[in-house]
Amino acid sequence: MPDRMRSLAEFRFDEAIEAAEVYLDTGTELELTARDEAIAYAHERGANLVAWYSAGEVVPSCVVAKVSLPLRWERAPLDEPTRDERLWFEAPCGRDVLVGNGHTFTGRIAAWCPHEGVSYNVSRADLVVMSEEARYFVAGFLAGSEPGCPMDVDGETDEADVDAWRAALARFRRTGSWYGRWGTCRVCGCVLLPDAVGDRCHEHPSAG
Ligand SMILES: [Zn+2]
Ligand SMILES: [Zn+2]
Repeated sequence: MPDRMRSLAEFRFDEAIEAAEVYLDTGTELELTARDEAIAYAHERGANLVAWYSAGEVVPSCVVAKVSLPLRWERAPLDEPTRDERLWFEAPCGRDVLVGNGHTFTGRIAAWCPHEGVSYNVSRADLVVMSEEARYFVAGFLAGSEPGCPMDVDGETDEADVDAWRAALARFRRTGSWYGRWGTCRVCGCVLLPDAVGDRCHEHPSAG
């Protein structure tokens, strides 16, 4: 699943880096260094020690970079959202258009209804009749939304995990749903793959 953007409030530099030791990027290698020594190293170079990537790590990796005070963030322009009429699909009210990421469950796509003037989310399985452009938009969107393969802390993957992951992804490309919760089949009690939304396994689809 795509990571969430990190909060601006998580930015840490110099003494605000809460760690006794850091991995200091000296330009050639990451060197395990006492935090205060690393701060001195940065200050000697007219710069600061910036925690580069520290999400959940005991020993954060740090780079030497100049921080201007008072602290401020880059200002990048906000684009006006655009709607492309070619991304239409048949909805009960007529032709609605796909507009982007729904940002709820993985694979949910944001749609716009010009008839009611409302935004809502759809999944691949909801789209039956659509333009060729919409079909490719959805395929690309889902490919980019695929969750990664399960991996342990050492970066190892389990063979059963890989098989399950590939089967779940194959179904995800058809349904566009990735619920990400554990559940079981109400008929046979097997544990459903994490993309599954309902309470029935592949072998026990609901009647009708
Ligand atoms: Zn509509
Ligand atoms: Zn079953």
